[in-house]
Amino acid sequence: MDKDRFEKLKKQESNVIRSLLKKQNEMLGQSLLHLDHLIYLQKSISLMSLADINKVLADKLPYILFIRYFSLFLFDKSKNVLSLASHNHPDLTENLVLRQWDSEIMSEAITRGSYILESDYAKSRFFQRVNNPLFEHNFFITIPLMIENEIIGVLNLNDNEKGYLNVTDLDFFLNVSEFISLSISNAQSFEKAERLSVTDGLTGLTNRQHLEASLMSEILRSRRYRSPLSLVMMDVDYFKGVNDTFGHQEGDDVLTSIASIIKSMCRSHDVAARYGGEEFVLVLPETNGSGAWKIAERVREEVENHRFDHEGKVHSVTISCGIAEFNNEGNQDYTDLIRVADAALYQAKESGRNKTIMGGGNEIFKGG
Ligand code: GH3
Ligand code: MG
Ligand code: MG
Repeated sequence: MDKDRFEKLKKQESNVIRSLLKKQNEMLGQSLLHLDHLIYLQKSISLMSLADINKVLADKLPYILFIRYFSLFLFDKSKNVLSLASHNHPDLTENLVLRQWDSEIMSEAITRGSYILESDYAKSRFFQRVNNPLFEHNFFITIPLMIENEIIGVLNLNDNEKGYLNVTDLDFFLNVSEFISLSISNAQSFEKAERLSVTDGLTGLTNRQHLEASLMSEILRSRRYRSPLSLVMMDVDYFKGVNDTFGHQEGDDVLTSIASIIKSMCRSHDVAARYGGEEFVLVLPETNGSGAWKIAERVREEVENHRFDHEGKVHSVTISCGIAEFNNEGNQDYTDLIRVADAALYQAKESGRNKTIMGGGNEIFKGG
């Protein structure tokens, strides 16, 4: 090989190496930037509530992923429903809820359990000659969010400045989506645990512990604003007989139906609780004794008129109610209110059941 040719080849070789190094350097730079963004995202959304995660994502995700648009749907497997949780798209309506099958792309990603990437929406098989605000730009990628093979949501990403995706981008998107899945799933588990700790498992009403806490804070509020407050205690009459005649399961169903009746009579700031086996308590802020008496009577009548059907055998039950009105002048605390309502309930039982009695020695109101 002559000297010139050798020099030329050497030069070529070093050019190739230089450009390779440059490329490697760029990739490394991009990876470091990705890593930076990932750490930033991790700091921002781990251990947050679901609502806060959605807010942070709407603010930061496009910047972190270098994309223009994204939408995140949560998936409810039991109902096959996708609910929009977070997005930055100007054309999307808030609180959008879709049936899984309404979105061919998301539905397919869910069924396959893997991402769908198309470099041009208009040329993809999902294009139906109608504009879809979610996917109208250059590329789109739909990534199912999974936790231990369960799909918990779907992340749609589309459009960037480059106009295309490379392998590093894709890898980064998939890493970020895994991380988002984890944060969402943690937040969901935490919120579920929190919900369970304040609600009764059978009826979904507030449980006894939480009722006591709510009652204490309502008393404080009532003292501060000198606003009325009442408490109704209810107990199912001869409930043991329901269990004995129709079985424990029917007993449970009766309790659940009574809980629904109670809930349907409540305003948003009332607290309806399951106090014991077949005892319920209603805390009624901004309500005096006579108001509480009317509400208790409406519940009592509704229960009395309700027909339960157990395998074709129709039956009914009644409840008795006792009422306590908070006395802003005295030193009553929550145990006093419960004691007064319980004593009134005892009187209702003693005097024949299926009635409402006002506690605290006030005999004006006597229902049933
Ligand atoms: P009273 O009119 O005096 O209130 O009579 P009662 O039969 O309702 O009262 P008692 O306290 O003797 O019986 C309450 C029954 O409620 C006994 C218990 O087996 C039943 N019970 C308590 N919790 C549950 C529950 O979660 N599910 C079912 N099915 N039964 C329950
Ligand atoms: Mg009872
Ligand atoms: Mg009882």
